[in-house]
Amino acid sequence: MSAFSIYVHFPFCKGRCPYCDFVSMDVDVIPTQRYLGALLEEWSGRKITGVEREPLSVYLGGGTPSLWPAADLERLIAALAGGAKVSEVTVELNPGDADEEWFRQLVDAGVSRFSVGVQAMDDDRLRWLGRRHDVEAAARVVTMARSSGARSVSVDIIYGTPGQTCDGLTREIRKVCELGPDHVSAYELTVASDTPLGRRAAGLDPPLPDQDAMADLWLAVGSELATAGLERYEVSSYARPGHTSVHNRHYWSGGSYVGLGAGAHGFEKDGDLMIRMVNSSDVEKYMNGEPAQREVIRPLDHARELVMLGLRTAEGVSIERVSRDLAPDLVKQWRRIAEDIVNQGHARFEGKRIVPTSNGMLLADTLAGRFF
Ligand code: SF4
Repeated sequence: MSAFSIYVHFPFCKGRCPYCDFVSMDVDVIPTQRYLGALLEEWSGRKITGVEREPLSVYLGGGTPSLWPAADLERLIAALAGGAKVSEVTVELNPGDADEEWFRQLVDAGVSRFSVGVQAMDDDRLRWLGRRHDVEAAARVVTMARSSGARSVSVDIIYGTPGQTCDGLTREIRKVCELGPDHVSAYELTVASDTPLGRRAAGLDPPLPDQDAMADLWLAVGSELATAGLERYEVSSYARPGHTSVHNRHYWSGGSYVGLGAGAHGFEKDGDLMIRMVNSSDVEKYMNGEPAQREVIRPLDHARELVMLGLRTAEGVSIERVSRDLAPDLVKQWRRIAEDIVNQGHARFEGKRIVPTSNGMLLADTLAGRFF
């Protein structure tokens, strides 16, 4: 029996951030009860084979789960846990939504980790990103999360807005660290073409940072967070010892997970078959019970995905094990590619694993491309 995790998507927000291409809707009245009912129904109808009965971790993301009343989240968590104590339950939240009572109720319900969408510690950048909060509100909610009794508090940051300098970003990261988070996820701003930002990206003045400038910003984030005791363990993820995300590490290592909610994806094993479950991203159709699509994943595609995810982590990946299990015809070829990557100084061997250097992690997607 192997472990599995659960991801729940809550696809509602107050307003739309101009860069966002997640599945989320801006509605006047959120149909919380109807949506909760659809989730509970989806969960009760799910048959997951070959896994433990209780989930390893539960992650409630969005969208904006903090717009959901605590009592509903409590009911959902209890149904997913099935009476067991889940070792990591994470809830994402945005500054300005949550109060002390919301935190208290969720911690009592078993939430052990809060992930706060701070995004910037500079009011001009927050405005540019179209966020609804300011730095003061962000600081207040992180402090509240820290005193809630939850085991870990994570902060999300977006860098790479036009004109951002390494010095400016370092100052923001320092302010983040003053709030004492256990974990930071720092994401490069990505611009999807079908977003309001994507439609005006070409005309921005100053322009978006180029690849070299982005790399410098990434290095600045890593260096400032390391000074504060948060080590990079994945391209965008940094943690104090003992506070890495169980949920994400399970996902990166190819573990099974169930995705519940509109737009959610899951990955399940059914005997020798590997299955991707894809829920409708149309919220109305989802609430009306449209079933998830079931796609069989080719072993080679799964192997490549594992290599790609592994090269983004400080744990690295055993190319030998992945190719032996999933792409036996390519064992020799992939060993040669791995040796090549090591010889070029982008990684080192640790036992059977290939572990990226800092520079290799930065080039992870390019390096992974050699296995395609
Ligand atoms: S709050 Fe998050 S999910 Fe909602 S629109 Fe903004 S970026 Fe997207």
